[in-house]
Amino acid sequence: MIDNNSFKEVNESYTLPEAVREAQRCLHCKVPSCRKGCPISNDIPEWIGELAKGNFGNAMHIINDRSNLPAVCGRVCGHERQCEGSCVLAKKGEHINIGKLERFVADFDSVAGLTHEAIPEKSRGRVAVIGSGPAGLTIAGDLARKGFAVEIFEMESEPGGVLMYGIPEYRLPKGVVRREIKKIENLGVVFHLGQTVGEELTVDDLFARGFDAIFMGTGTGVPKRLDIPGANHKAVRQAIRFLRRVSLYEAGLMDNSEVIVGNGDRVYVVGCGNTAIDAARTALRMGSAEVTVVYHRTIEHMKALRSEYDEAVAEGVKFLWNTSITIIEAADDEHIANITISTDGVERVVPADHVVMAVGSSPAARIVSTTRGIEVDDRGYVLTRDNPYGMTTRKGVFAGGDVTNRPATVVHAMRDAKQVAEGIARYVDAIKLLDDINRDSGL
Ligand SMILES: Cc1cc2nc3c(=O)[nH]c(=O)nc-3n(C[C@H](O)[C@H](O)[C@H](O)COP(=O)(O)OP(=O)(O)OC[C@H]3O[C@@H](n4cnc5c(N)ncnc54)[C@H](O)[C@@H]3O)c2cc1C
Ligand code: SF4
Repeated sequence: MIDNNSFKEVNESYTLPEAVREAQRCLHCKVPSCRKGCPISNDIPEWIGELAKGNFGNAMHIINDRSNLPAVCGRVCGHERQCEGSCVLAKKGEHINIGKLERFVADFDSVAGLTHEAIPEKSRGRVAVIGSGPAGLTIAGDLARKGFAVEIFEMESEPGGVLMYGIPEYRLPKGVVRREIKKIENLGVVFHLGQTVGEELTVDDLFARGFDAIFMGTGTGVPKRLDIPGANHKAVRQAIRFLRRVSLYEAGLMDNSEVIVGNGDRVYVVGCGNTAIDAARTALRMGSAEVTVVYHRTIEHMKALRSEYDEAVAEGVKFLWNTSITIIEAADDEHIANITISTDGVERVVPADHVVMAVGSSPAARIVSTTRGIEVDDRGYVLTRDNPYGMTTRKGVFAGGDVTNRPATVVHAMRDAKQVAEGIARYVDAIKLLDDINRDSGL
């Protein structure tokens, strides 16, 4: 069971001797299957080898080559489905704890101030990045290292996207996210916060300011609703908004009473992905008496990681499989009284105080509705091409991460963004070359 208001990080870090001992177990396989399992092809055996010899700075340099967010990935990636699940030692149930080692190297490096990257000269062009989630941060870091001047436009008052306002503190401390962002800022990336593109300024304004290319990494911030009686009641919360409020409450920017879910409540969470489990565990931490996750399919179909589920069960979250909420009954304007739940077609009415919806999300239309030429599919996802990778139907505007891929994971947003960074670099180099040729020939 979990203490109220205990947002302390749940998974502990290695001590230095533990990390070195764990690194020394690696077999340095000739064909490292762990690396194949990593969506961004992190050079895992190489940096683990440096760590095993106590060369922490070298380990960090190797990680930096592929990742801008190692302290984040070390904590929230689905290692059991990726590198660790692919490690040859996994067959014996003894995989190397790659995530925990990556987290150790990144934390050790930033706390000790071990490595410092030189600020590259910004001579290749100017790129505006809209959104500072994992996709935007990755584009910014990669392009800054390639010699581009990058400015990020973010609508929130702090950068980080879901890392800052979605994934809860007990899994990903905000201090860790801030340290990673500081490293990207140290590469010369400029942040403009509280700037909503599509409201305060438009894509055309950004081009008018002289940017050569624009990247949209705006995620999927619009939560989906369920079409059931009572779904629009005030006491029915959207999980991503609830989690955002809790982040603001923890940062001292919102009062406990505004978080709403808590104080002995009976809470039902609908859905079974990362967001649902985070909302359920957070509701417990906010003081809810009873939290139940309701999912219309079986545990085998659950999108959340098994480890997240196990931790939620250990903390006291209950799960109802093959179950849907069919009716939400109001007590008054502010409160709900009962919900009807249907398990394998058998209905029953149970008392409830809150329903939290975590049934998916889709992109907002702020930018595409204020900009000509950016086409989206029938669900609002931005359409992009493969050459140059990531360019939308509007010349010079690129997109990547969840806004093109559908809600995925941190590392998949990063993988996509790395490829888009290559696409942007090729595009900007090409237009600059054409400009030079035209200027030289007096056109
Ligand atoms: C609650 C929750 C828990 C999750 N847990 C995990 C996990 O454990 N592991 C994992 O791998 N993945 C997890 N995910 C998924 C992962 O966080 C996302 O796939 C990832 O953040 C997508 O990155 P992104 O950069 O595309 O978008 P986002 O992180 O959504 O970032 C988009 C950014 O764009 C900004 N923005 C949007 N519109 C505008 C605009 N018009 N102008 C300016 N700024 C704008 C937003 O404010 C935001 O900062 C989780 C998601 C949620 C919601
Ligand atoms: S597969 Fe496992 S043992 Fe082999 S190199 Fe990768 S981490 Fe080391």
